[in-house]
Order: sequence, then structure tokens, then C-alpha cells
Amino acid sequence: SSLRKFFVIGNWKMNVNKTRIDNIVKFMTAASLDPNTEAVVGCPSCYLSYARHHLPSEIGVAAQNCYKVPSGNFSGEISPAMIQDCGCEWVILGHPERRTIFNEPDELISEKVAHAQQAGMKVVACVCERKEDRDSNRTEEVLFRQMETLAASISDWSRVVVAFEALWASGTGILATPAQVQEVLAKLRYWLRHNVSQEVANATRIIYAGSVSSGNCQELAKLKDLDGFLVGSAALKPDIVDIINSRS
Ligand code: PEP
Repeated sequence: SSLRKFFVIGNWKMNVNKTRIDNIVKFMTAASLDPNTEAVVGCPSCYLSYARHHLPSEIGVAAQNCYKVPSGNFSGEISPAMIQDCGCEWVILGHPERRTIFNEPDELISEKVAHAQQAGMKVVACVCERKEDRDSNRTEEVLFRQMETLAASISDWSRVVVAFEALWASGTGILATPAQVQEVLAKLRYWLRHNVSQEVANATRIIYAGSVSSGNCQELAKLKDLDGFLVGSAALKPDIVDIINSRS
């Protein structure tokens, strides 16, 4: 829908250093990026200023996590205020690696989202489906529970992008079919319509994550309820340019 600007975020995870960032900046700057796509990179906290300083201003920079309060004795954490101080306005919250490897529960993610929103940040909020959820036909139940916890903490939906992570199709070599992706995205939009409002359901970008590549992005980009991608491994390669331009 023209109401929803196409949104692509390339998450670098813990896979960059200054040399690699320089290289990514080079190919992202050299390419012509579709102006109808909002492009963002997910950057490790120690390089937020560096990435912000080197990327063109049209490309947003996101932190990959943050804590739930502005400051205090929380060694190792960073706050939305600090991310903003580095010149960045986005944060990814609830990424499956945070949920699974670092055991972040829905409630903590929800508190982080609430604080990030209060601080005026834009949030990419992830909801995830594991292989065992799909295998046991609990997709809807699991995703709707995550949406419910998340929605309780959202004050400004215009500054939220919802990312659906098909964990069973991330780094596994198993690809989600376009029909499977559309089915889940439609369910999430239905949830927004019935639990938030028709306007929010119409205006909120819902993006897909899970082994998105230059090879599958164009077909997925045609899906009715798909408004973009959260990209992992392909974000480190020139493939991200094709993904940003997948609707061109
Ligand atoms: C991810 O883990 O968020 C992700 C989408 O990774 P990949 O694109 O490599 O599957």
C-alpha cells in the first residue's frame, strides 16, 4: 500500500568492524537506492557514531538493542538517550537472538519498547516463530501472544515497524514460501485491526525476516501484506542493494 513506505533494515549483528563498515558504506553509497524504500542498517553499539558519520543521511542507523531506562548503574547496557546522542533514531528490539541466546522475555522487551518510545525513538519490534511453534500448529497463538505484550507498551504506532521472524527459515537453508509468509503477515495485520485499530492496521509496516536474499526478495516484495524486510547475512554484501531495490 502507498500508505506504507517500503522498509528494509540490514542488521549487521556482531559481524562488522570499521574496515567492513567502510566497505558496506562504499557499495551502499555507490548504488542508486530506490527513494521509495526507507533503508536502515542495524549497527553494533560501539560503531553507531562511526556508521552515522559515514553513511548518507538518507540511510537510517539502528542500534540492535537497548535498555529500559535512560541511565544508571547497568554495566554493559546502552539507553535510547545514548543512541540518540550518537545521532541515531532507530532501535531493534526483541530480535530472536536477544530472546533466545540472551533469554529476554516478552515482558522485558515490552518494557524496552515502552521506554524507547517515550524517549522518541523509532522501533523495529520483532515477533518470532520457532520451528517447534510451526510444527505444533501454534503459529497464531505464539505470535498473537507476542503482539499482545508488545502492543501494551506501544504509545505511537507511527514510529513502530513490526518484523516477523520466521526462525525456522533463518540461517537454516529452509526457505519460507511466499504463501507461508503472506499467511502470517495477513494474520498479524488482522491482529492489529481487531486489537488496535483499522487505521493502525492500514498504516503499520509489517516486514519479513528469514534468509531474505537477492534471489528471493523480488517475489516476496510483491506480497500484499509485506512492507519490507529485516535482513541478516545478506546485509553484509552488495545483495542488500538488490533487496532495498526489490520493488523497483
Ligand atoms: C535475522 O536473524 O534476523 C535474519 C533475518 O538473518 P538472515 O537474513 O541471515 O536469515
